[in-house]
Amino acid sequence: MAPDATLKEGPKRVLLHVCCGPCAIYPVEQSRDQGCEVTGLWFNPNIHPLSEYLRRREGLLEVAAKFDLNLIMLDREYDPQVYLREVSHREANRCFHCYSLRLARTLSVAKRGNFTHISSTLLYSKFQKHDMIAGLGRDLCAKSPVSFLYQDFREGWSQGIKKSKDWGIYRQQYCGCIYSEYERFSKELAEAVSENEAEKGSV
Ligand code: SF4
Repeated sequence: MAPDATLKEGPKRVLLHVCCGPCAIYPVEQSRDQGCEVTGLWFNPNIHPLSEYLRRREGLLEVAAKFDLNLIMLDREYDPQVYLREVSHREANRCFHCYSLRLARTLSVAKRGNFTHISSTLLYSKFQKHDMIAGLGRDLCAKSPVSFLYQDFREGWSQGIKKSKDWGIYRQQYCGCIYSEYERFSKELAEAVSENEAEKGSV
């Protein structure tokens, strides 16, 4: 997918939705290199449990300190029910609704804050549904004074990972929601059950 053509036009005030510290590194660097003035927006009610939310939040604060990055922290809006109601009974398509929830909130903050563009660090991850995020961002902004600034941040995947490791930033084991946590660790449960059954069988 081609980068946003408007990148070459004048300065931009970009509100960058941030999903975590490691994923913010390359998008912030890249956007600044393109002449954008970047502010990060932390709004992720999808993250489960709260202890994980707090760890990722801390990682973001560490990255922001390295970059002297301004952040808008919507911690008071952290409520798992907000996310769960959004995806309830449509879990098979949950990522669409999860992206939509976060990007729509980003857009509403951007409008109030006179930002010219929004974007998201979700465009950095090789594990996210990249085209879906780009399409959603464009659709949400279609009739808005705020534009969606598309960039394929996946190009900086290795660069961002290296820096996050060098800086010792917390790196998560799963995407964020309770479903993704289950998918990530369910293999361990299956192995534990098999071992247990094998032990019983050998008695
Ligand atoms: S897997 Fe990730 S993007 Fe999809 S719903 Fe869960 S937290 Fe959101």
